[in-house]
Amino acid sequence: MLTKAALALALIHFTTPLAYYTYLKTTWLNKPWNINRDPNYKPKVTVIVPTYNEAKFIEKKLDDIYSQDYPRNLVDIIVIDSASTDGTPELVKKWHSEHKDANLKLVVEPERRGKLYAILEALKHVHVESDIVVFTDADAFWEPRALNKAVAYFADPTVGAVTASITYTDNNTRENIYRSYYNKVRICESKIYSTPAQNGPFQAFRAELIWKYGLPDFPGSDDSSFGSYIAFTGYRAIQVDDVSVKEPVRGSEFRRKIRRAQHLILNFLKTRNYAKRKGAYKYVKQFEKIWWIEWWLHIVNPWLLLISILLVIVATYKGLLTSTVVLIFGIALLIFKPYRVWIMQQIYLLLASLRNILTKEVTWER
Ligand code: GDP
Ligand code: MN
Repeated sequence: MLTKAALALALIHFTTPLAYYTYLKTTWLNKPWNINRDPNYKPKVTVIVPTYNEAKFIEKKLDDIYSQDYPRNLVDIIVIDSASTDGTPELVKKWHSEHKDANLKLVVEPERRGKLYAILEALKHVHVESDIVVFTDADAFWEPRALNKAVAYFADPTVGAVTASITYTDNNTRENIYRSYYNKVRICESKIYSTPAQNGPFQAFRAELIWKYGLPDFPGSDDSSFGSYIAFTGYRAIQVDDVSVKEPVRGSEFRRKIRRAQHLILNFLKTRNYAKRKGAYKYVKQFEKIWWIEWWLHIVNPWLLLISILLVIVATYKGLLTSTVVLIFGIALLIFKPYRVWIMQQIYLLLASLRNILTKEVTWER
């Protein structure tokens, strides 16, 4: 009985995401975009780079933006630094003195309140004529045509937000398995209508939506809640497949994974109601379906696995032979990397929900 219940839960836990993934991959991955892109559409863009102790990366980052294949007079750059102690603002000033034709503004916050508050603060400095606002992490590297290609999607008036796919610069295969799975899911969801996530390395928004609706500012809000929020306005929030940006894996992988999972969970718990409260919410059937499946996968599904494991352990303890076999089988499967990556992700989500009760991470050390 216990073993049967455990198996049923495990079955639901594994088949829902697999069925969803298979459906997306076979039905949507190779479909063309139902979006009118225009490579000649050249609106005014503001690129916002939040920095906290980015001395190692900031000059290369500015070089990257500077050398984009996009008219330089149409690009404003805002660096918002929050009390870095490694000389980041000085490097920005030095870089600007060497690139006087860049429209760069440096904003220095006297104290560190976190990335979210920094980029919301930076929005106050965006020129009114800007049509597109792009947020990008200092450690993210864009290929020279990234901006050009991403902006082309905004020529379609239904598009409100565009985010890039992410690849990793080192050979961290765990992270690459995780990314290649999620990149596919996000792109398929985007082709259907919208995806509930944005990636910090490259997230672009139609500025008028930000002026009209703001961006979610609840504690723990981040890239993913920005994406969901714009999707809830009825505009499309998409991840695209022809813009890929590179990000190194920095600091403790474990802490970073937990932090990101915390943000994802808060997104699924809060953003929909937040959009309603702000009067920004518009019902879009295609996106609602995607939202509730992803909600299930992030909020409910990990717990099914946990309960299933606990039941099997109890049954094994009681001396049930079948449960012992099931337990050993479940553990043996860990030799397969994708399975291992999946199980790890479930553990991150579980630990993250517990940690959310204690703290909504707003600042972090690397
Ligand atoms: P991860 O990619 O999620 O591991 O996060 P990172 O540590 O790379 O941070 C993402 C971006 O936010 C980087 O450009 C950081 O410099 C920046 N950042 C992090 N915390 C703060 C902060 O408190 N203030 C500002 N202005 N930027 C921050
Ligand atoms: Mn980063």
